[in-house]
Amino acid sequence: MSNRTLPLTDSLYDYLLNHSLRENEVQSRLREATRAMPEANMQIAPEQGQFMAMLVELMDAKRLLEVGSFTGYSTLCMAQALPPEGRIVACDLSREWTGMGASYWKEAGVLERIDLRIGPAIDTLDDLLDDGQAETFDLAFVDADKENYLNYYERCLRLVRPGGLILFDNVLWGGEVANLDKQDTDTQAIRALNQALHNDQRISLSLVPIGDGLSLARRRGE
Ligand code: CA
Repeated sequence: MSNRTLPLTDSLYDYLLNHSLRENEVQSRLREATRAMPEANMQIAPEQGQFMAMLVELMDAKRLLEVGSFTGYSTLCMAQALPPEGRIVACDLSREWTGMGASYWKEAGVLERIDLRIGPAIDTLDDLLDDGQAETFDLAFVDADKENYLNYYERCLRLVRPGGLILFDNVLWGGEVANLDKQDTDTQAIRALNQALHNDQRISLSLVPIGDGLSLARRRGE
C-alpha cells in the first residue's frame, strides 16, 4: 500500500493498460498512424483519452472546446463520449495534422460533432468571445503552444460556464518542471501556469499525474 502517488514501473503500467484500457478500433488505428510521425510525442496517452472521455460523461457535457488538436486523437475520444447533438470547437494551426484526424473522425461517425477552426487559437477564442459565446462551454482541453498557456487560460475561463472544467496537458513536462537546470521558455511557461493555477481562487484545482501531467481547473461560482 502507498499513501502517495505510485511511480509506474513498465510492468505496472502494462498492468494498468491491460486491465482498464478500452480503446476502440478507430482510436487504436489513429494512434498507430500518429505514432509513425516525427511529432508523435505530442499525442496524449490512451489512458488519458479514456479519462477525458469519462470527464465528458460525468459532466454530461454537450459543448467542448479544444485548443490544439494535432492529429485528433483527443478530439476523437471526447467526441465519442458526447451525445449525438454535442459539439466540439477544435482549434489547430495545421490543416495537415487535423486533416489526418478528420478521416478517422468520419469513420467513427462523429465528424459532424467537430467544428474545426484552423488558425491561431488566440484569435479563435477571441472570436468566440466576440460572438457572445462566453459561459457556453462545459469543458475545455488546452494542449497547444506552452508559451500561450496563460493566455488560453484567461480566455477559456470566460468561455466555460460556472462549474465548467478546463484541462491543461503536459503540466509535468516530462518531469522538467522540477528540474531547475531547465530554464527554457516552454518549461518556464508551464511553471508559470502551474503557479498561477495554484494561487487562483476562481477555480478548484487538481493536478493529476496521468500521461505527461493533466491539471483540472474547475471554474467556481455555480
Ligand atoms: Ca500534449
